[in-house]
Amino acid sequence: MENDNTYFAPGVPADPKEDHIIRAMALKGHVKAVAINSTKTVAEALRIHNTSPVVTAALGRFITGSLLIAENMKNPTDTQTTIIRCDGPIKGMTCVVDSHGHAKAYPIENQVEATYHRPGKLNVGAAVGSGSLTVIRDIGLKEPYTGSVELVSGEIAEDFTYYLASSEQTPSVVALGVQVGPEGVLNAGGLMVQLMPGATEEDIDYVEQRANGGFPDITFLMEEGFTPAKILDLFMGDPDMAYMDGYPVSYKCNCSRDRMYAGLAALPKDDIKALSEDTQGIDTECHFCDHRYHFTPEEIGQLL
Ligand SMILES: [Zn+2]
Repeated sequence: MENDNTYFAPGVPADPKEDHIIRAMALKGHVKAVAINSTKTVAEALRIHNTSPVVTAALGRFITGSLLIAENMKNPTDTQTTIIRCDGPIKGMTCVVDSHGHAKAYPIENQVEATYHRPGKLNVGAAVGSGSLTVIRDIGLKEPYTGSVELVSGEIAEDFTYYLASSEQTPSVVALGVQVGPEGVLNAGGLMVQLMPGATEEDIDYVEQRANGGFPDITFLMEEGFTPAKILDLFMGDPDMAYMDGYPVSYKCNCSRDRMYAGLAALPKDDIKALSEDTQGIDTECHFCDHRYHFTPEEIGQLL
């Protein structure tokens, strides 16, 4: 019988059904392999934004991919913002990830009618259309690092793959999946496999073969009870793969009244003056969690 302790890695939640990321090194350290279960994180995005199924799938893949590519942020204050702007009915999505595994995100349009590749297979690419993917990493340097690419297909995983290859010069395989049922999000997860410096031609061929060899959908594997660690094991097929570590991930918004107030203070003086003349005061809403904050005319006036 297989022993689940084989898959132990420091930082992975005791219950592997809790959302988390796990990282491993394979092929003699030439390949980094990362997998994620993001089911509850995506379910929380659906709950907050009341998204239609195809938007849940698109936003869910976007959040999952954003968490995956953020796995190498090191400092406690590092943040990453990913932005899609597109001409499909979703119009765009934004996701912010911190270095503690927290993600928050929103779509521009939350209700979009779905089309399907085949029965049960949502056509995310049609809802997204063409556009761009921008990644902004604030790692405490004077200027944040920004990279931007055209969308390849709008199916999200291919778009992240292309971004990593062209903007970060890291050849990668990215697979993402969100399974939406009548009751909500059934499974969400993904994997990212990256060639490290020193990877040989054989390593490259091997990873390409695994990726192109009809590897099952991530959500199918999750439905079958595969943890992120087991998904990596199946993908790599390397008995010497070493699980390095892991960490929990979750949906979390860090907005506050103070932050919103600071945001108002950054508006042009004329706009603040106009707002301060509304005797009712104003309500501002956080895009990421829909929380409302009320400010009185006096509070706004103090910003002048
Ligand atoms: Zn918020």
